[in-house]
Amino acid sequence: MILPIRAIGDPILRKKCLDIGSDYPGLSDLIANMFQTMKAARGVGLAAPQVGKDIRLFIVDSPRMYEDPALGIRKVFINARIESEFDERWSYEEGCLSIPDVREDVERNKKIRIRFLDEKFMEHSEEYDDLNARVIQHEYDHIEGILFVDHLSAFKRQLLKGRFNNISKGKVSVEYKMKFPKT
Ligand SMILES: [Zn+2]
Repeated sequence: MILPIRAIGDPILRKKCLDIGSDYPGLSDLIANMFQTMKAARGVGLAAPQVGKDIRLFIVDSPRMYEDPALGIRKVFINARIESEFDERWSYEEGCLSIPDVREDVERNKKIRIRFLDEKFMEHSEEYDDLNARVIQHEYDHIEGILFVDHLSAFKRQLLKGRFNNISKGKVSVEYKMKFPKT
Protein backbone atom coordinates (compact mmCIF):
# COMPACT_ATOMS: atom_id res chain seq x y z
CA MET A 1 0.00 0.00 0.00
CA ILE A 2 1.30 3.44 -0.92
CA LEU A 3 1.23 5.75 2.11
CA PRO A 4 0.90 9.55 1.92
CA ILE A 5 4.20 11.34 2.65
CA ARG A 6 4.00 14.06 5.31
CA ALA A 7 5.09 17.55 4.23
CA ILE A 8 7.33 20.05 6.02
CA GLY A 9 5.32 21.81 8.74
CA ASP A 10 3.80 18.54 9.98
CA PRO A 11 4.65 18.23 13.71
CA ILE A 12 5.50 14.52 13.34
CA LEU A 13 8.60 15.50 11.32
CA ARG A 14 9.89 17.31 14.44
CA LYS A 15 9.53 14.43 16.88
CA LYS A 16 12.47 12.56 18.34
CA CYS A 17 11.37 9.05 17.49
CA LEU A 18 11.19 6.09 19.87
CA ASP A 19 12.79 2.65 19.83
CA ILE A 20 10.51 -0.26 18.99
CA GLY A 21 10.38 -3.95 19.90
CA SER A 22 10.02 -6.86 17.49
CA ASP A 23 6.38 -7.10 18.63
CA TYR A 24 5.55 -3.64 17.19
CA PRO A 25 2.12 -4.15 15.58
CA GLY A 26 2.13 -4.51 11.80
CA LEU A 27 5.88 -3.93 11.47
CA SER A 28 6.50 -6.15 8.44
CA ASP A 29 3.54 -4.59 6.59
CA LEU A 30 4.78 -1.11 7.49
CA ILE A 31 8.25 -1.89 6.12
CA ALA A 32 6.78 -3.33 2.90
CA ASN A 33 4.53 -0.27 2.53
CA MET A 34 7.46 2.06 3.10
CA PHE A 35 9.46 0.37 0.31
CA GLN A 36 6.46 0.64 -2.00
CA THR A 37 5.92 4.31 -1.04
CA MET A 38 9.60 5.18 -1.53
CA LYS A 39 9.68 3.48 -4.93
CA ALA A 40 6.52 5.27 -6.11
CA ALA A 41 8.07 8.60 -5.11
CA ARG A 42 11.45 7.66 -6.67
CA GLY A 43 13.19 8.20 -3.35
CA VAL A 44 16.48 6.69 -2.19
CA GLY A 45 15.46 6.66 1.47
CA LEU A 46 12.38 7.04 3.66
CA ALA A 47 11.94 7.40 7.42
CA ALA A 48 8.92 6.30 9.49
CA PRO A 49 7.95 9.85 10.60
CA GLN A 50 7.54 10.75 6.93
CA VAL A 51 4.64 8.29 6.82
CA GLY A 52 3.23 9.36 10.18
CA LYS A 53 4.96 7.00 12.64
CA ASP A 54 7.25 8.43 15.34
CA ILE A 55 9.42 5.30 15.57
CA ARG A 56 13.14 4.73 14.95
CA LEU A 57 12.80 3.03 11.58
CA PHE A 58 14.13 4.05 8.18
CA ILE A 59 14.94 2.40 4.88
CA VAL A 60 17.66 3.12 2.32
CA ASP A 61 17.77 2.15 -1.38
CA SER A 62 20.91 3.69 -2.88
CA PRO A 63 22.15 1.48 -5.77
CA ARG A 64 20.98 3.86 -8.50
CA MET A 65 22.93 6.75 -6.96
CA TYR A 66 26.13 4.96 -7.96
CA GLU A 67 27.67 4.46 -11.38
CA ASP A 68 28.34 0.92 -10.15
CA PRO A 69 25.00 -0.02 -8.53
CA ALA A 70 26.68 -2.88 -6.61
CA LEU A 71 28.16 -0.22 -4.31
CA GLY A 72 24.71 0.83 -3.12
CA ILE A 73 22.66 -0.67 -0.29
CA ARG A 74 19.02 -1.65 0.14
CA LYS A 75 18.46 -1.97 3.86
CA VAL A 76 16.18 -1.54 6.84
CA PHE A 77 17.52 0.29 9.92
CA ILE A 78 15.67 -0.16 13.22
CA ASN A 79 16.56 1.54 16.55
CA ALA A 80 19.69 2.95 14.89
CA ARG A 81 22.36 4.96 16.70
CA ILE A 82 25.14 6.68 14.77
CA GLU A 83 28.19 5.90 16.92
CA SER A 84 30.64 8.15 15.09
CA GLU A 85 30.97 10.39 12.06
CA PHE A 86 34.46 10.92 10.73
CA ASP A 87 36.76 11.60 7.78
CA GLU A 88 36.50 14.79 5.72
CA ARG A 89 33.46 17.07 5.42
CA TRP A 90 31.97 17.15 1.92
CA SER A 91 29.13 18.94 0.25
CA TYR A 92 26.35 17.25 -1.71
CA GLU A 93 23.04 18.50 -3.05
CA GLU A 94 20.24 16.92 -1.00
CA GLY A 95 16.50 16.84 -1.45
CA CYS A 96 13.70 15.35 0.65
CA LEU A 97 10.37 13.75 -0.28
CA SER A 98 8.79 15.86 2.51
CA ILE A 99 10.13 19.10 0.95
CA PRO A 100 9.43 18.75 -2.80
CA ASP A 101 11.35 20.90 -5.29
CA VAL A 102 13.90 22.14 -2.75
CA ARG A 103 17.47 21.00 -3.32
CA GLU A 104 20.43 22.48 -1.49
CA ASP A 105 24.05 21.64 -0.75
CA VAL A 106 24.59 20.19 2.70
CA GLU A 107 27.96 19.53 4.33
CA ARG A 108 28.41 16.28 6.25
CA ASN A 109 31.20 13.88 7.23
CA LYS A 110 32.20 11.34 4.61
CA LYS A 111 32.10 8.26 6.88
CA ILE A 112 29.95 6.93 9.69
CA ARG A 113 29.73 3.98 12.03
CA ILE A 114 26.17 2.99 12.90
CA ARG A 115 24.64 0.38 15.20
CA PHE A 116 21.19 -0.88 14.24
CA LEU A 117 18.81 -3.83 14.06
CA ASP A 118 17.75 -5.27 10.72
CA GLU A 119 14.17 -6.35 9.93
CA LYS A 120 14.82 -9.67 11.72
CA PHE A 121 16.03 -7.74 14.81
CA MET A 122 19.60 -8.96 14.31
CA GLU A 123 22.10 -6.40 15.62
CA HIS A 124 24.80 -4.90 13.36
CA SER A 125 27.53 -2.30 13.75
CA GLU A 126 28.72 -1.20 10.31
CA GLU A 127 30.74 1.50 8.59
CA TYR A 128 29.44 3.34 5.54
CA ASP A 129 30.95 6.04 3.38
CA ASP A 130 30.17 8.28 0.45
CA LEU A 131 26.57 8.30 -0.84
CA ASN A 132 25.46 5.44 1.40
CA ALA A 133 26.62 7.39 4.46
CA ARG A 134 24.96 10.52 3.05
CA VAL A 135 21.53 8.87 2.71
CA ILE A 136 21.82 7.21 6.13
CA GLN A 137 22.76 10.56 7.74
CA HIS A 138 19.77 12.24 6.06
CA GLU A 139 17.32 9.49 7.14
CA TYR A 140 18.86 9.29 10.62
CA ASP A 141 18.22 13.02 11.01
CA HIS A 142 14.52 12.32 10.34
CA ILE A 143 14.22 9.95 13.32
CA GLU A 144 15.84 12.67 15.44
CA GLY A 145 13.29 15.26 14.26
CA ILE A 146 15.80 17.05 12.03
CA LEU A 147 15.31 18.05 8.37
CA PHE A 148 18.17 18.61 5.90
CA VAL A 149 17.25 22.28 5.57
CA ASP A 150 18.11 22.71 9.29
CA HIS A 151 21.74 22.37 8.22
CA LEU A 152 21.54 25.44 5.95
CA SER A 153 22.57 28.91 7.05
CA ALA A 154 19.98 31.11 8.78
CA PHE A 155 20.13 33.36 5.71
CA LYS A 156 19.33 30.50 3.30
CA ARG A 157 16.49 29.26 5.52
CA GLN A 158 15.03 32.75 5.64
CA LEU A 159 15.07 32.87 1.83
CA LEU A 160 13.30 29.50 1.63
CA LYS A 161 10.71 30.25 4.33
CA GLY A 162 7.98 31.24 1.88
CA ARG A 163 8.46 28.05 -0.12
CA PHE A 164 8.28 25.89 3.01
CA ASN A 165 5.06 27.65 3.95
CA ASN A 166 3.60 27.05 0.49
CA ILE A 167 4.55 23.38 0.62
CA SER A 168 2.86 22.93 4.00
CA LYS A 169 -0.30 24.41 2.41
CA GLY A 170 -0.08 21.99 -0.50
CA LYS A 171 0.89 24.74 -2.95
CA VAL A 172 3.43 22.62 -4.80
CA SER A 173 3.20 20.33 -7.78
CA VAL A 174 4.17 16.82 -6.81
CA GLU A 175 3.75 13.49 -8.57
CA TYR A 176 3.40 11.27 -5.50
CA LYS A 177 0.85 11.04 -2.71
CA MET A 178 1.38 13.60 0.08
CA LYS A 179 -0.41 14.82 3.20
CA PHE A 180 -0.13 18.54 3.87
CA PRO A 181 -0.54 19.90 7.42
CA LYS A 182 -2.18 23.21 6.44
CA THR A 183 -4.91 22.02 4.09
ZN1 LIG B 1 14.12 13.45 3.88
